[in-house]
Amino acid sequence: MQLRPKKSLGQNFLIDKNILKKIVDIGGINKNDKILEIGPGTGNLTEYIVRSKSKNITIVEKDTDLVKILKEKFKENIKIINYDVLKLSENFYKDEFIVYGNLPYNISTQILAYWCLSKNIKFKKLILLFQKEVADRIVAEVNTKNYSRITILANWKFNIKKILDLNPECFSPRPKVKSTLLEFTPKKKIIEIKSPKNLENITKIFFNQRRKMVKKNFIKLFKNFNDVSKSVNINLSDRPQNISIEKFLMIVKKFEDELK
Ligand code: SAM
Repeated sequence: MQLRPKKSLGQNFLIDKNILKKIVDIGGINKNDKILEIGPGTGNLTEYIVRSKSKNITIVEKDTDLVKILKEKFKENIKIINYDVLKLSENFYKDEFIVYGNLPYNISTQILAYWCLSKNIKFKKLILLFQKEVADRIVAEVNTKNYSRITILANWKFNIKKILDLNPECFSPRPKVKSTLLEFTPKKKIIEIKSPKNLENITKIFFNQRRKMVKKNFIKLFKNFNDVSKSVNINLSDRPQNISIEKFLMIVKKFEDELK
């Protein structure tokens, strides 16, 4: 069946065989590992996953036309789910998956944020391909212009390693931008907060006004904003990009203490 790739679903298929193999190898898949691939497309990456030791592979693809192709191509040992990844509930993630995904670029940050903020989802590893610009934000250092909400959410939960940049020629159709492969390994110990929702909301409030001094938001959050800012060692004339991940989590903890 000849198919026209759908731009609205971010369909840029990875066609470089060396890269496809390398991506799967990074997972170091063992025979008991459970694999989840998000957005398998025509199954280019899936083919290499199927050759791995895992006998437990689930793929989730939104495009019904592609699901028909996938069902033709992979007849055994693989669960093919025709669904929107954004609509999967926490219950779906009962297994500690190794997740692969050449993610649709328009929803990649949203998926990652959901995974980071969900209390009950545990992963073995995530191996994800992003638009380079988004990956740069995910791995950004504090005090840089790329430092963002997603930097905080992702680095709170995961150790993140940049694996490689990919040129548009590795894909068909070619995207306009470069891509970057990142590997996420869950941190053994994270800074505990009562509700990730509070981290979600507080980082949203601060980064919605990323050029403004943080004082305004401290006033919004805390009656005793001067004391709180001193106790977490934050200068009220700083901008959100100057506040480390640990300090953001301290702000959340202070906020949660005040709610008691
Ligand atoms: N993994 C394939 C590859 O590398 O060749 C395809 C990657 S392509 C960038 C993104 C894939 O995600 C497409 O197949 C697209 O249909 C699928 N997709 C887009 N939005 C989705 C969603 N909300 N849920 C599940 N799959 C989605």
